Order: sequence, then C-alpha cells, then structure tokens
Amino acid sequence: MLIAGNWKMYKGPAETAEFCLRLREEELEGVDVVLCPPFVSLAVAVQLLAGTEIAVAAQNVHWENEGAFTGEISAPMLRELGVYGAIVGHSERRQYFGDTDEAVAKRAAAALDAGLFVIACVGETEEERDGNRTEDVLRRQLSVLEPDDNLVLAYEPVWAIGTGKTATPEIAQEAHAFVKSQIDAPVLYGGSVKPDNAAELLAQPDVDGALVGGASLELDSFTAICRTAIPS
Ligand code: PEP
Repeated sequence: MLIAGNWKMYKGPAETAEFCLRLREEELEGVDVVLCPPFVSLAVAVQLLAGTEIAVAAQNVHWENEGAFTGEISAPMLRELGVYGAIVGHSERRQYFGDTDEAVAKRAAAALDAGLFVIACVGETEEERDGNRTEDVLRRQLSVLEPDDNLVLAYEPVWAIGTGKTATPEIAQEAHAFVKSQIDAPVLYGGSVKPDNAAELLAQPDVDGALVGGASLELDSFTAICRTAIPS
C-alpha cells in the first residue's frame, strides 16, 4: 500500500520542517509513504526525511530538461535535489493551468526517463459522471500513458476532491478495476480521504493506496490514514 500526501500550495519550508521532524518519529513500517510538498519546500523535506523510508515527490514536472520555460521545473533538477518522484496530471493542473492529456503524457514520460517515479492522476468531473461518460474520460486520459514499472496511477474523481464528497467504496472499486483494465499499474484513490473513511476504501481489492490532499496537512490525520494501510 502506498499513501501519498499532496500538500498543494500549503506549507513553506518552516512548516514543512516542523512536520517532517515529527513525521520521522512516527512508526510507519509496512506502508510506503510519500510526501509531496510545494517546490520551495522540497529541499528541506528531502534533508529532514533522509535516512527514513519516506519518499519526497514534487507536485508537477516539466518535460524538457532545461530551457526557456519560465516558472517550470525539470526532472533532472528534481533528481539533483534528491526528490524521488512527481505527481502529473492532477485535476487542479488540468482545470486551472490548462494541462492537456498530451502535456500530462509528456510530463510523465520525461519524469520516468529521468528515473523519477510518477503518480499520474485521472478522473472524471461530476458532469461527466452524470452523463455516463466516466469510462470514456478515463480511457482517453489513460490512452496517452505508457506502462512503466515506476508508474502509479491515481483515480481522483474531480467531484470528490476537496469537497468532502468521497466516492463510495463500490464506485472507487468499479473505477479502479476499469483503470487497471486499461493500464496494468497500482492505482491510488484520491478524493476526500480521511481517517474515518480510509479503511473501507483501502479494503477494496483494486485500491492500492491513497492520494490524500486536505487530510495530509495535519500530522495526526495523515499518520492515522497511513496506519490504516498497514496490514494487520
Ligand atoms: C488531492 O489533492 O489529490 C486530493 C485528493 O485532495 P482532498 O483529499 O483534499 O480531496
């Protein structure tokens, strides 16, 4: 099981340091834990989690190694910092920053080429689900991705992200099975995962972990979710 915390645009270096110093004292054996802080907080997270099993990943990555791409960060730059992976295609990137399926595919391929692991996010909007288009959307988003040992997928229904509306375990399971029918890779569930709903979601056969937004910002709720993923 893999539990990744996506901090979005929260926690600068000072708050990140405080969180990591406490996180490294936690007993989390048996679960793969990944923290995804904002770019400016990656260095301190890498430093303070060195020597632990907790990996640090970025929330985005550009497809070129370098160049005139103001505001972007490349995979080799992340590698140089000691970062292990990157999220690509988060719905907030698709929604607010114009990331297309093709851009997501290029980001994923470049990151994998550079030796990073990738968490590639897919998921339908409420309108798409209501219009019975969930599978079409997932098929389209997944069609541009190449299978890779270092590729992890995250099924994140857009209507469940940051809304408190979690997919039922049945909805999650059905979508995960479909995602796996398209690409053979582990699939995380994301969308309002909290300590009190994590167990039933993680119990589904095709749910291989969680991508946690809001609940990853507090150490107690994040570690509670991580502990739920430890096999008993
Ligand atoms: C996310 O940011 O990927 C996410 C799932 O957010 P939340 O857990 O807050 O819904």
